[in-house]
Amino acid sequence: MKIIRNPAAMQRQSQRWQREGARVGLVPTMGALHAGHASLIRRARKVAGAKGIVVVSIYVNPTQFNDAKDLRAYPRPLAADKKFCRAEGVDVVFAPKSLYENDASTAIDETAVSLGMEGESRPGHFRGVATVVVKLCNLVQPSAAIFGEKDWQQAALIRRVARDLNLPARIIVAPTVRAADGLACSSRNVLLNESERQQATALWQAIGLARAAVRNGNLRGLKRRLILSIEQHLTAKVDYVEFFDKKMMRPVKPMKGVRMALAVFIGKTRLIDNARL
Ligand code: AMP
Repeated sequence: MKIIRNPAAMQRQSQRWQREGARVGLVPTMGALHAGHASLIRRARKVAGAKGIVVVSIYVNPTQFNDAKDLRAYPRPLAADKKFCRAEGVDVVFAPKSLYENDASTAIDETAVSLGMEGESRPGHFRGVATVVVKLCNLVQPSAAIFGEKDWQQAALIRRVARDLNLPARIIVAPTVRAADGLACSSRNVLLNESERQQATALWQAIGLARAAVRNGNLRGLKRRLILSIEQHLTAKVDYVEFFDKKMMRPVKPMKGVRMALAVFIGKTRLIDNARL
């Protein structure tokens, strides 16, 4: 497994792959790798084939953080991540120290699917995400890039940016990997203490409640009831619960087939999840 830390070296490498006609699958991550990332890596291998190249990028992208404390607290276990990638059969880890010039003055703004939910709660977040994904695609030139359904709105944004800007990479979105109790795997889960980890099951429980309510047609005051049930947990504070149209991310009434997304602070840690009702 090769480690590349320099963006220019990454681009030289991907130009060689292009000349050789190699199939390249890219899995963009911010590190602190877990079973969710592993499933994306396996998907990338499937797409690239045994002879193709699987690249995992590991970069805590500062431009997508709207909260300096959150950026500082984000876990960065690079040595363990390299080991993880080696065990998963990754060919190249691209772990740049920085991806931005000090006076960088160009960014990508998507203006439809990125407005609500995460876009509203975290101003500037999706601008950072869109910009870094395009930069990574320019550096790695993948035939396919793999993202997780766990960040549904992010995946919708990336599909839109890829379409609107004619990115050559195929965008693939893979299902959410969960712990046995339903909590979606997340790099932020390592920030939870034992009690918070227990409380974090509130997100999946709320999805279960919403599904049951939709099944029973018991929809009156559903959002309020979900918020109450989540906030019964000691340190849980709901940022939003939303039912939305899965393509345009616009709010809709809860019903079968609609998606629900939620963001909840458990103590200081903000967790998100989503699922089809
Ligand atoms: P992150 O390192 O959190 O930026 O995530 C990198 C990629 O992994 C994103 O495309 C995420 O959507 C995806 N991802 C994160 N958690 C999961 C999960 N539990 N299951 C599947 N994919 C995930």
